[in-house]
Amino acid sequence: MEVKSQKKTPRRRSTRQRRVILQVLRSTKSHPTADWVYEQVRQEIPNISLGTVYRNLKLLRDMGEVMELSFGSTYSRFDGNPEPHYHFSCKDCGRVFDVDIPVAKELEDAVRRQHGWEVLYHRTEFYGCCNDCKQQQEEKQP
Ligand SMILES: [Zn+2]
Ligand SMILES: [Zn+2]
Repeated sequence: MEVKSQKKTPRRRSTRQRRVILQVLRSTKSHPTADWVYEQVRQEIPNISLGTVYRNLKLLRDMGEVMELSFGSTYSRFDGNPEPHYHFSCKDCGRVFDVDIPVAKELEDAVRRQHGWEVLYHRTEFYGCCNDCKQQQEEKQP
């Protein structure tokens, strides 16, 4: 009996951890880093470790529940919306926004036609200067 309950506890705990992490990610559109998710989750589960958060984020990604976005040399950001969509990354403030245009399936068809490869999905990131940063720069100018 005791052995059974000991075995059950970690599994129930990890399910709860994963659920809270998913809730945190689904509640924001800011495409946060694992560190930010960790800080939020800690308010609900104070004794959770960053490693556990990281492991669960990777697991949720593998399950197709969230998306992991890596932007070159900077560390990964996570997206609670796993549906294909584009992102805009501001070079000045570093924020990542969802781009509100349809995903161009015709690009995948073009690659398929040209090379015969089976395309599963594509990712596109736009880089530039967001409206807030643009406005700040305009205000600085004399
Ligand atoms: Zn910006
Ligand atoms: Zn997104």
